[in-house]
Amino acid sequence: MENALEIRGLCKRYERFALEDVSFTLPRGCVMGLIGENGAGKTTTIKAVLNLIRRDAGEIRVLGQDNIADERAVKERMGVVLEDGCFLNTMNARQVDTLMRKAYRNWDSEQFFGFLSRLGIDRDKKIKDYSKGMRMKINIAAAMSHGAELLIMDEPTSGLDPIVRDEVLDLFYDFMQDEGHAILLSSHITSDLDKIADYITFIHAGRVALSEPRDELLDTYGVLRCTADQLSALDPSVVRGKRMGAFGCEALVRRDGVPQGWPVEPVNIEQVMLFLTRGEEAR
Ligand code: ATP
Repeated sequence: MENALEIRGLCKRYERFALEDVSFTLPRGCVMGLIGENGAGKTTTIKAVLNLIRRDAGEIRVLGQDNIADERAVKERMGVVLEDGCFLNTMNARQVDTLMRKAYRNWDSEQFFGFLSRLGIDRDKKIKDYSKGMRMKINIAAAMSHGAELLIMDEPTSGLDPIVRDEVLDLFYDFMQDEGHAILLSSHITSDLDKIADYITFIHAGRVALSEPRDELLDTYGVLRCTADQLSALDPSVVRGKRMGAFGCEALVRRDGVPQGWPVEPVNIEQVMLFLTRGEEAR
């Protein structure tokens, strides 16, 4: 079966920022977390997939179809949640239902209102009278109610309390019970990605710093605490980032390049992100 998402050589240049040669693949059946510092280019990448901005170069295939040539078909098959939401603040859930029924051939009102009941959302209240969490829930419910195979979400859990985040992650788990489905979500909440992501793509300053299955990433890398002399004895290709201190240094290293017996500790996604963003470049 074709991949859920393939991005090849994506470039987008703004006056003071450039997305350069972004490439990654999301297979069906998988959840990918898109991470990176503020301004790294995550939203720009998502907007390019949705064809909301004009790219300068590259190719994007969604569920085997070209995201521009086959835009109409692709949009039917994709559920989208953007940070600012997609609906007017003066609308209530019934009006969202009416709008979405016109927009999507496979819109399922019963499913939509089912999600809202499950999430405890009052369908008669206007969106502007919802809390931030409720607004996000209605957007997620809408994205999941038109038979989408791929969900693309920009920061869907940001600003949500841990209980609501858990409810939302449960919805994503349920969505992923179909092996043909896939999710791409950007997030700063790495603990959510620890729970749900199969793949991690890390964008740093407009470029893909790494894109790997999460378990492989966590198995491959570790944190080494050692002296500066020990670190400089390692092959430079083993060290992906380092922090030098007065009493020694810490480095993100490939475990297979470190001599037996050296103390390499397990790493988590947040530490990988910090080392690759803030650690000095390994030389
Ligand atoms: P965050 O985590 O803060 O949401 P992000 O990784 O999603 O960040 P983007 O929103 O993709 O980052 O922005 C990347 C860069 O592109 C930023 O420097 C931003 O100022 C710039 N940018 C985005 N849109 C435009 C635009 N329309 N014109 C000029 N620059 C833009």
